[in-house]
Amino acid sequence: MELKICHLYPDILNLYGDRGNILCMQKRLAWRGIDVSVEGVSIGESLKASDYDILFVGGGQDFEQEVLLADLEGEKTAEIKAAIEDGVTTLAICGGYQMLGQYYKTWDGQQCDFTGALDLYTIGSKDRMIGNYMYECEELGVNVVGFENHSGKTYLGSSVRPIGKVLAGYGNNGEDHMEGARYKNVYATYSHGCLLPKNPAICDFLLKTALEHKYGSAELEPLPDVLEKAAHDRMEARLK
Ligand code: GLN
Repeated sequence: MELKICHLYPDILNLYGDRGNILCMQKRLAWRGIDVSVEGVSIGESLKASDYDILFVGGGQDFEQEVLLADLEGEKTAEIKAAIEDGVTTLAICGGYQMLGQYYKTWDGQQCDFTGALDLYTIGSKDRMIGNYMYECEELGVNVVGFENHSGKTYLGSSVRPIGKVLAGYGNNGEDHMEGARYKNVYATYSHGCLLPKNPAICDFLLKTALEHKYGSAELEPLPDVLEKAAHDRMEARLK
């Protein structure tokens, strides 16, 4: 068995250790003897999204998001949308999460028209939503601990559902107490690089989804997760 991961815009969208999520996926697959390859696709490079089993896109400042707009438009947008509709597992963080939506209007009035792969949009505010935070992942029955830093407030349309309720911090917009977006096999969230290392259940969920999509069925051997659990539980206790 093998999974192919595409890291979209690795040199542009990569804040607060977002690449750590890729390292975590690689490691947890390797520990189970499953092969994995990672390819970066950036500005000027063509994307054949259906060649991959997992699409990953990290966060970026408003500036970086504006820089990639022209490149994203057209072919890359069509590839991303088709892959998402086809059920390719996708993890999108913060700026990358916003990029999967329809648009982002920055706090200073710049309009970024994004992919529209997901039924959601983002409006910038002057206040930043920063800090360690926690939300419930209803589907898996776990509390996810993460780190958020955004000024964009994201609002979901009716065809996507939130990941779950915010238990501490801001989440999507600091108003409706919801975090993230789920659609088909997309997991889009404001949680940066520590997401998967500190929440191994989410990592395994994404890996299992990708393996099932490719091979029909998949079981992942459980791992001891002693350090991962300790890191998670300590942060959960701090945020309670
Ligand atoms: N530029 C976006 C915002 O501030 C995303 C920031 C990020 O990815 N951390 O809302």
